Amino acid sequence: MVGPVYKACKQCSFISEEDTCPRCGGQTSREWQGYLVVIDYEKSDIAKQMGISSNGKYALRVR
Ligand SMILES: [Zn+2]
Repeated sequence: MVGPVYKACKQCSFISEEDTCPRCGGQTSREWQGYLVVIDYEKSDIAKQMGISSNGKYALRVR
């Protein structure tokens, strides 16, 4: 089975299938663990702590 390979941005942790982050243009990595789905960043304390300013999927750890 071949599915999409998800990668996380090393700069902002945004998860996408791209080699460069569509959000900030940073380099992405396949080496990441765990993720957080932000559906309402303005009301999310975790998003504030992580400096997230838009909705989407974010990796908790990116290597
Ligand atoms: Zn990014």
